[in-house]
Amino acid sequence: QKAEWKKLKDQPSQTADGKHFTIAANIGTPDDMKGVLENGAEAVGLYRTEFLYMDSSDFPTEDAQFEAYKAVIEGMKGKQVIIRTCDIGGDKHLDYWDLPEEMNPFLGLRAIRLSMHNKDIFKTQLRALLRASAYGKLGIMFPMIGTLTELRKAKAILAEVRAELEAKNVKIGEDLQVGMMIEVPAAAILADQFAKEVDFFSIGTNDLIQYTMAADRGNDGVSYLYQPYNPSVLRLIKNTIDGAHQNGIWCGMCGEAAGDSVMFPILLSMGLDEYSMSATSILRIRSLMKKISLEDVKELANEACYVSETFEDNAKLVAETLKKLN
Ligand code: PEP
Ligand code: MG
Repeated sequence: QKAEWKKLKDQPSQTADGKHFTIAANIGTPDDMKGVLENGAEAVGLYRTEFLYMDSSDFPTEDAQFEAYKAVIEGMKGKQVIIRTCDIGGDKHLDYWDLPEEMNPFLGLRAIRLSMHNKDIFKTQLRALLRASAYGKLGIMFPMIGTLTELRKAKAILAEVRAELEAKNVKIGEDLQVGMMIEVPAAAILADQFAKEVDFFSIGTNDLIQYTMAADRGNDGVSYLYQPYNPSVLRLIKNTIDGAHQNGIWCGMCGEAAGDSVMFPILLSMGLDEYSMSATSILRIRSLMKKISLEDVKELANEACYVSETFEDNAKLVAETLKKLN
């Protein structure tokens, strides 16, 4: 099986009926690029920049950030790289950033909330990103956006940094896109409105499931609730993809569910455009994609969202659908 997968490394990600969907990789540092290239990723769908902050004994400088972002962008040779702004807070901490103790860190001042609360630190990162954008095809992505006001504020700060750089004649990439994670249920519900103000979405199921089910993503005691195939979660995912497509933008997924073999046929049925996963999952999913035609999964999205009642129903539904393929 592994040998069969290896042959797919340089092949495009296509369904049995020849439709292309992008399979991308998630990375934490520029060192992960080796695995990305070895497994034939068609893009980097999520670069988690908080690791740059976590692997450092003080805030990384603008130049250190610029070099890291540029290395990844150049490494992809013109293929798109989505870099997410810092997602500190929740379960991720920095020794050198003295933040108040919180009762509920996952519901607290994390990710974009923290960035906008510390505008200088945020602006330094955005400067590094915009400078690096000149070296390839960059997408800047904001994590944990919950309201349009929050998105507009983040975009306004980006515009401010951009204007400052342009005043100094710093070159900025022409292909630059600006997008947001959909990982807060509030954003998934209003996806049609958010889609009018960004170039792309990437669904973060790790958090979206946690917040939809009110079940800690790392707590084994509630793992029976933390299930990606729950019809409630799937409806939010479908609403996000539909909201994106109705407004002419693309929608990806960078949570763990994007590389899940049971989830994959459902997402394909919903028309998800980009699947971003750990590099070691890419060839497995590409191989699965090759076996499925869109006709095979035509009814799957609606059944999974509106007929199934439990996540177990959906696991069975997908198993039956896949069995019929051969
Ligand atoms: C997610 O929430 O699905 C996601 C990709 O972000 P992280 O796992 O870094 O929170
Ligand atoms: Mg997340």
